[in-house]
Amino acid sequence: MAKNPWQQRIRRAEQLAVQHPFAAEILTFYIQVARFQQGLSQKLQGMSVGPSPFLSARPEFAELLAIFPDFLSLVEENAPAQFAQIAEAVRDTPSSSWSDLLNHCWSAHQPPEISDEFLAIVFLQPYAEFVRSRAPLQLDGYTHSLCPFCNRKPTLAVLRPLGDGGRRNLVCGFCLCEWEFRRIVCAGCGQEDQAKLPVYTAEQFPHMRVECCDACHTYIKSVDFTKNGLADPLVDELASVPLDLWAQEHGYAKLHPNLLGL
Ligand SMILES: [Zn+2]
Ligand SMILES: [Zn+2]
Repeated sequence: MAKNPWQQRIRRAEQLAVQHPFAAEILTFYIQVARFQQGLSQKLQGMSVGPSPFLSARPEFAELLAIFPDFLSLVEENAPAQFAQIAEAVRDTPSSSWSDLLNHCWSAHQPPEISDEFLAIVFLQPYAEFVRSRAPLQLDGYTHSLCPFCNRKPTLAVLRPLGDGGRRNLVCGFCLCEWEFRRIVCAGCGQEDQAKLPVYTAEQFPHMRVECCDACHTYIKSVDFTKNGLADPLVDELASVPLDLWAQEHGYAKLHPNLLGL
């Protein structure tokens, strides 16, 4: 039996890698990343969280910096070539610049480029989740489309069973905060006209939806738990790459890339 969120994500990624050969490479890499993240999360569990908004002023920062080289090695050895080359380039920079990189990515709210920033975000993700899980967040009455903890745009949406239908929540791909958001509103521009908010589905992924906006030309994928209770938001979003390709070919830009930059 899966015991913690990482083990559940790893198990789901293993299943989907078999079902969807086109996503096998990215999911196999994700499994390596998730194992590393699980280790980092376990290290963090015993620590108390420092109050500073600056990453470098937090007591956990030294611990994070100390294991960053291990993460770079993991990416160099297991990632698709594009990411492995970035990790190699980061390793060749002085370690003092790693501290600047991690600090910058912790406080930047713009989606990371496919670059060293993107690697830093993947590395920091379990830490963001850890800090957020200990933060006194008040979500009642929160109606905005940006993450209430880290102010980033949502990476995906989920439909959770509610009555005869589903309630839509947005999910931050960095700190994994999940918050309720009105179902017929674009999370990118606030458009409410249903005629401008087409939703597409594909037979291949019966529980995935591509929610588009014809006003700002963005899209977000949603995982429909009313159709498949076994799905994992992060992993199923990653595995449904063909939906991203389809949306992008049709002129929609993703609201915020996922953890692997897709
Ligand atoms: Zn967040
Ligand atoms: Zn929009």
